[in-house]
Amino acid sequence: MPELPEVEIVKKSLKKNVKDKKILDVIVINRNLRFKVDKDFEKILKNRKIQNVNRYAKNIIVELNGNIYVIIHLGMTGTFHLIRNNILKNTNLSFYQSKDLPIKHNHIVLIFKKFRVIYNDPRRFGFFKLLKDKESFKLYLKNIGYEPLDKNFNLKYLKKSIQFRKKCIKSILLDQKIISGIGNIYANEILFRSGLNPRKKGLKLKNFELKYLYKYSKLVLKKAILKGGSSIRDFRNTEGAKGSFQDNFKVYDKDNHNCPNKKCNYKIKKIKISNRSTFYCENCQK
Ligand SMILES: [Zn+2]
Repeated sequence: MPELPEVEIVKKSLKKNVKDKKILDVIVINRNLRFKVDKDFEKILKNRKIQNVNRYAKNIIVELNGNIYVIIHLGMTGTFHLIRNNILKNTNLSFYQSKDLPIKHNHIVLIFKKFRVIYNDPRRFGFFKLLKDKESFKLYLKNIGYEPLDKNFNLKYLKKSIQFRKKCIKSILLDQKIISGIGNIYANEILFRSGLNPRKKGLKLKNFELKYLYKYSKLVLKKAILKGGSSIRDFRNTEGAKGSFQDNFKVYDKDNHNCPNKKCNYKIKKIKISNRSTFYCENCQK
């Protein structure tokens, strides 16, 4: 599942190709994504110019002229493919899994003058949400928590959002309404670096622990973006290049490995929290 750093890479590649380009036509092959694609999606997008492509948490935000916004979420398996008109071979630039456009599960096609952008999603947990004015767009953003890279994400916000909750810190980090953009991989990595036991309840966190959490939430995501994301299950960007943050994983998918902390002789444990794989060192994370 792409997390914030991977979605950032997808956004960058998409922006590079579609910004300031006009959508000539739209074909919706399958409306049944996580939310049904709006009936007037094709009509409204047709002949509009893409003014910008942004990202917030794991949402890609496509801004079109006339205050029209499309929020795209890649869900578990969403990928974009770009096919140029005049080149027939090896032009499929995928963000995830196969480098070539799969035959099945292509749901939405955006047609531009010189290329087509195709959205593929085998599990269909992704979505395209159409917002028809600035107010609905603002309201949409209001309902998700601040992402750690947001300037409004500060220690005060973190404290306010965590310190009264009985839920464990790992589940809090994954709750997009509280803090957005952190998925399972990065939650494990942030908690190890912060020295926090994933099962610790939010209300038990002391101020110094919140400071670590604040610091490492930002640092881990920033570093992952710099490294081009993590290439789990063959994640690639539009240029077909793999990310390399997986080489920096300290605990994720490392059960039974030695703890990366040299002064520690424990092994990394794997447990389940809210049905998600959780990796941690019981000696270093209290
Ligand atoms: Zn350890």
